[in-house]
Amino acid sequence: MVQPGSFAVPLAGLAAAFAKGLPWTGSGNWWLLTSLVLFLSLAPHTSGGVLCRLIGYTPAKACFAHPYLIAARRRNCDSDEDCVMLLLDGLVNFSRSYLPDKRGGLMDAPLVLSTRVDPNEIDKEAHNVDLGTSYAYEVYEAARRYAHPREVEKFVDRVGSRIGKDSQYEGFGFTHSVGGIDASPLVSAYGEGTMEEKLRKQLGLMAKIRAVDVNDVVRKIVVHHLLPDMIGNLGQFSKQMLRCVKCNNNFRRIPLSGKCPECGGNLTLTVHQASVRKYLELSKRISEEYDVSNYLKQRIGLLEEAMDSLFTNDKTKDMKLDDFF
Ligand SMILES: [Zn+2]
Repeated sequence: MVQPGSFAVPLAGLAAAFAKGLPWTGSGNWWLLTSLVLFLSLAPHTSGGVLCRLIGYTPAKACFAHPYLIAARRRNCDSDEDCVMLLLDGLVNFSRSYLPDKRGGLMDAPLVLSTRVDPNEIDKEAHNVDLGTSYAYEVYEAARRYAHPREVEKFVDRVGSRIGKDSQYEGFGFTHSVGGIDASPLVSAYGEGTMEEKLRKQLGLMAKIRAVDVNDVVRKIVVHHLLPDMIGNLGQFSKQMLRCVKCNNNFRRIPLSGKCPECGGNLTLTVHQASVRKYLELSKRISEEYDVSNYLKQRIGLLEEAMDSLFTNDKTKDMKLDDFF
């Protein structure tokens, strides 16, 4: 996970701090030494880092952390990028003038640092972590009745019921011992393989679960994910901007010269045919394989016609010899 050579960055930052004559010790708090053993954890698309300690390494492509730390960062990294950096890196290798002035420029930069995690102030999600060593008989009985979880709240020892007491930090129980917390798949299936492979795996699993109507899952995936993606990209294709390959300038319309007026570079599309058609074949295949309504199949068909009418030039049609027979 640690990039080779990345240690040069804090070293360069220290050299810069030395050259500027900044004090090594601060006001007697030895910021330099402490920031060499402490770390800063930052979730994607946020700018609030949380102070933490590194206690070990794992071969898993993941960061393991206390649920409080995860919740304190106000965002989970469910197969998104995660980040832990040396505190020193956040302190000396940072300036607001490095940040881009574009929208989102303040994201993923440690602008705020929380040095203390108060379980009462973190995301409420972590308050539902249960801490008991076993479940009460009533919980099993309620599960059999499909009761609402709120009904059995009083039988389960949760973080939420310990807030404000000393026990909010200690005496956490668990139900099953394990040899190591990373004795599990080391890479999340979410980040592996193509979209189609992941979808096939999901549908394969759904088909095995009796409680799931796999045809309905296929309908929902097509209606809520694949179709909106394709319709959105199709609309975007005809309204798209052009980009200069040399200077990265964006243009709302094609300039009359056909070249970049700033530097004369070639212009390129920002939305491509491939990204519009990306899920078309997949949508057609799964809607044929599974039992979905004719209405949905026709919607996919109409979308395909709309794409063909946009991308296929009727005047210059490539003909093969056997087209004439
Ligand atoms: Zn240009």
